[in-house]
Amino acid sequence: MHPKDAFKYCPACGKRGMMYNNKVGYLKCISCGFQYFINEAGAVAAIITDMEGRILFTKRAKAPAKNKLDLPGGFVDIGETAEHALEREIKEELDISLSSYRYFMSQPNKYIFGDMTYFTLDLAYICQAKSFDNIKALDDISGIRFIPPEEVNPDDIGLASIKEIIKQYLNSLNSTS
Ligand SMILES: [Zn+2]
Repeated sequence: MHPKDAFKYCPACGKRGMMYNNKVGYLKCISCGFQYFINEAGAVAAIITDMEGRILFTKRAKAPAKNKLDLPGGFVDIGETAEHALEREIKEELDISLSSYRYFMSQPNKYIFGDMTYFTLDLAYICQAKSFDNIKALDDISGIRFIPPEEVNPDDIGLASIKEIIKQYLNSLNSTS
């Protein structure tokens, strides 16, 4: 469900009649004029490679796209930078630290959770880890796989934005070799 369809009553005055402005992307109450903007939420995704260039994939433990491959990452908290979210999520999901990273690309996504559609903007970073010695599958992931680029099947990836990010990453490898 699009968030515009979830707001039947105005959260400010309680009356029925929230009109959605498709052009600007906000709901406006026809009674009191209260406005509610529907925006993309920031999220980060990490392309972490090992010494042989294999890509670290996680397996999703929860819906959406349960049991499908994913990249480590997650939502950016309010007041947090994308870079801080990247380091925090990698620590929370894998218990490893990054030695370096650089911004790669962004990709919009729709994240279906419960009945609601959340709009995200996934920011992808290419990362190197300090060490994989103590890596663990924590938080909302059920496993970890290192896959050589030539063996990656984008159809095994659950989320559309991550699939596109990996496709473009694989293309970037082919164009530089
Ligand atoms: Zn109102």
